[in-house]
Amino acid sequence: MEITLVRGDITEQQVDAVVNAANSSLLGGGGVDGAIHRKGGPEILDDCRKLRASKYGGGLPTGQAVATTAGRLPAAWVIHTVGPVYSATEDRSDLLASCYRESLRVADDLDVASVAFPAVSAGIYGWPVDDAARIAVGTVRSTPTKVSDALFVLFTRDAYDAFARAVEES
Ligand code: ADP
Repeated sequence: MEITLVRGDITEQQVDAVVNAANSSLLGGGGVDGAIHRKGGPEILDDCRKLRASKYGGGLPTGQAVATTAGRLPAAWVIHTVGPVYSATEDRSDLLASCYRESLRVADDLDVASVAFPAVSAGIYGWPVDDAARIAVGTVRSTPTKVSDALFVLFTRDAYDAFARAVEES
């Protein structure tokens, strides 16, 4: 698998699927979630509401992933995953790794080749970005998948630099 780092906005990526750092409600939020719903339009929220009314009545559990349409985004799919809120006292790394593993599993179910990931949990959920980057890169590299192109799309200079270090060290 080819891993590429991009400094920019995930909503503009020409890939098959973009991963959303969603919250459990699936009904939208701030950060990358807000940007995806704003640019993708109401079709994404319609799909999310249907998921809440069917399979995920209690919300999407942390560490899991589910796909919807991407609405007006250049991508065909949005894969929503719920990152863990960072805790200084409890190690939640397995849940963060699970977000990447489960997103790739959903991507394989969709039979797609290219997937763009944001730095899940590294924004509002407070995960230290160097550690978030190591978990992200390590998990994507070590997960068996048919996905051939993984992009990490980093919105800030700090996040980009952290992912560059993580790729170098992996
Ligand atoms: P979380 O709640 O999982 O922490 P956030 O959306 O708050 O999710 O932040 C995750 C990462 O996404 C942060 O590094 C943030 O800077 C970044 N981000 C915010 N908007 C975008 C965007 N449009 N494209 C890519 N990354 C984004």
